[in-house]
This record gives sequence, C-alpha cells and structure tokens, in this order.
Amino acid sequence: MLADEEIERILVVTAHPDDVDFGVAGSVATWTDRGIDVSYCVVTDGDAGGFDPDVPRSEIPAIRRAEQTAAAKIVGVTDLHFLGHPDGRLVASIELRRDIARVIRIVRPQRVVCQSPDRNYQRIYASHPDHLAAGEAALCAVYPDARNPFTFTELMDEGLDPWAVAEVWMMATTKPDAFVDITDAFDRKIAALQAHESQITDIDAGRDMVRDWTSAVAQVGAFADGRLAEGFMVVSTA
Ligand SMILES: [Zn+2]
Repeated sequence: MLADEEIERILVVTAHPDDVDFGVAGSVATWTDRGIDVSYCVVTDGDAGGFDPDVPRSEIPAIRRAEQTAAAKIVGVTDLHFLGHPDGRLVASIELRRDIARVIRIVRPQRVVCQSPDRNYQRIYASHPDHLAAGEAALCAVYPDARNPFTFTELMDEGLDPWAVAEVWMMATTKPDAFVDITDAFDRKIAALQAHESQITDIDAGRDMVRDWTSAVAQVGAFADGRLAEGFMVVSTA
C-alpha cells in the first residue's frame, strides 16, 4: 500500500451522484488538505433518483450533476467527469470499461477508489446492483484496460497513452484493511451530503446514521473512542 506522500492524484469512480459522499468524502477532504489532487468519475446522472414528482424527470440529470459539483467543492474537488450511463440499468459493459479507462488515462491517478463488485450481505443497501457494476467495470478499467494499448485503440487515437494505476481502494467492503481517520473532516462530509438536496430530506437523521457507521468502522480500525473513520479494502494493481 502506498503512503499518501507517494500519491499525487486519486480518482474516485462511483455509480451515482452522492455515492462518493456517503463512501469516501471524509477521506477525500483529508487527501485534498494534504495537497493531493482528487478527481471524480460519476458513471450515471442518478436520473432514476429523487422523490419530488413535481420535478420533470428530464431535469434530474442537470440537477444531480450540479449537486455533485457543489458537494465536491466542499471537500476540495473541482475535476469531475460525468459519463451519463443509464441509472438503474447499469452493467459492466465493454463501453463502460472503455469510458472509465478513458478517464483513468486523462487523470493518470496512482490510486483509484471504487465500489466493491462483491455484494455486502451485512449491508445490502451499499450493494445496489449499479454499485456492483460500476465497481466491476472500474476494476476492469484499471486492469487491464487502461494500461493495455491494444484493447481500446480509439483511446490511443484520442492521444491518451496507457496508464497503470498502482492500487485500488474498494468501498463498502466486508473486509476493510485500510482506514482513514475522518473525525476532523466529518462536518465537511455531512455538508457534502447535504448538497444533494434532491435526495436527502432529513440531514439530522443522515448525520446520526453516518456518525454511527463511521464510528463502527473506527472501532474495527482500532482507533481511540470517539474517533470516526472510513474503511477500504486495498488491492495492489501495480
Ligand atoms: Zn448509489
């Protein structure tokens, strides 16, 4: 596992707007505080989300992109790549692998953070089928797609050279082996979640839920009482 000092750029790949903020926004805030450039790749526009029937469905993608952009800014992220794949119907297609590989070649990250392609039976909501598909496609994009010059030759035609990502951190895993203390970034994580106004009706309940679960992760990571953490499973892909 690389030390943060060895990392210049991190790319977070998630299925939906707001996934990044539930899963990793606290860690992102600590990374950008240290001068690491963090970029987001959001696979769908969350166009099957929202709860207000008075909002025309055609307006949802623009609303959710704007919310994710605002949430990103709160934790120091301004480079966002929206892929526009269909929400609720995501599969780890060759086209999705190519589109994520393209963003990897543009951003050239040492670390990719993505969703786990393995279903978490202890926390089934974290394993939405779109999350599993996005995680599977992201792992395929890291190895072998982004580093192989001979699969997606159209990316070479676009002037994008192969790039080998050194490590992948997976969210929503049942076996976390890397932990980030986010206690000092907790308020920014909540503010980022709050930026998703079309999704979150009760931020007080959300804050309690996120505090409970980051507190439980901190205990798994053997942090001191009262600390909060996000947990990941690290895969070496160097
Ligand atoms: Zn999601």
